Amino acid sequence: MTGPDKPRSHGRLQPVVSFQPRDLMADSRTVVGAWRAKVITLFPQAFPGTLGLSLTGKALDMGLWALDPIDLRSFGEGKHRNVDDTPAGGGAGMVLRADVMARALNFAAQGTPADRARWPVLYLSPRGRPFTQARARDLATSAGVTLICGRFEGLDQRVIDHFGVEEVSLGDFVLTGGEIAAQALIDATVRLIPRVLGNHASIEEESFSEDLLEHPQYTRPASWQGHDIPDILLSGDHGRIAAWRRDMAERLTKERRPDLWRAYCARHDRDPDGDQEL
Ligand code: SAH
Repeated sequence: MTGPDKPRSHGRLQPVVSFQPRDLMADSRTVVGAWRAKVITLFPQAFPGTLGLSLTGKALDMGLWALDPIDLRSFGEGKHRNVDDTPAGGGAGMVLRADVMARALNFAAQGTPADRARWPVLYLSPRGRPFTQARARDLATSAGVTLICGRFEGLDQRVIDHFGVEEVSLGDFVLTGGEIAAQALIDATVRLIPRVLGNHASIEEESFSEDLLEHPQYTRPASWQGHDIPDILLSGDHGRIAAWRRDMAERLTKERRPDLWRAYCARHDRDPDGDQEL
């Protein structure tokens, strides 16, 4: 993309799409020790995507976190840089080759801790363990992460096993590729890094932070199409407002997410079938 109207993301300091080691080390604008995501993908141009906008984008510009898309194609085989082949045993589609992915993973491993607890290597995959807010909190305390975005029918199992890659799923649905899933995972993680969100109190109160879904939110106008903001929120009585919000959060959680509700009740020594009648 060229010309005066090129998107902002292409003019920004990062990411550097490259497979030259010196480029990975060249971004002096990143805060020392900043959390870093290395993303192996056939579509590096998909990054930073929405991560380049708003608070995550500002934080990226400020070097509070860093993003290195790694172009899987550049590790491909032969003149055509082939990255995939037909599934052993037959069947539809194509599978990403172990040797090609291994080269990309070895490249990504340069300059990262070998300890998987400090630097997890994750493959976005519908077969993975579901990604959660707790995992995002965990990842935000790591040094960084290497993410593999799959395409086609996915990735040769041998490279998953050999590199100790962990599979992580965004949910029980199938996407075309791992790029959107990787962006979602990065977004959820990066916003938990100190200073990325201006207002850290909002993190403490939001959904899942206390194993409850968030209470309903309202803002001006006080009356809209005959619907009023609940009186209590305009009362100025912070104690009663907090109690109301908790009550609403509990009701919503019980109604929509019986699984979360049972876990919450177990933790708070409450009867999941008691009070909170809906
Ligand atoms: N054949 C695979 C699906 C491949 S979908 C299977 O049935 O399990 C192609 C790629 O999209 C995957 O390799 C993965 O990287 C990504 N993807 C699809 N669904 C996803 C999900 N729910 N969570 C995370 N990544 C997903």
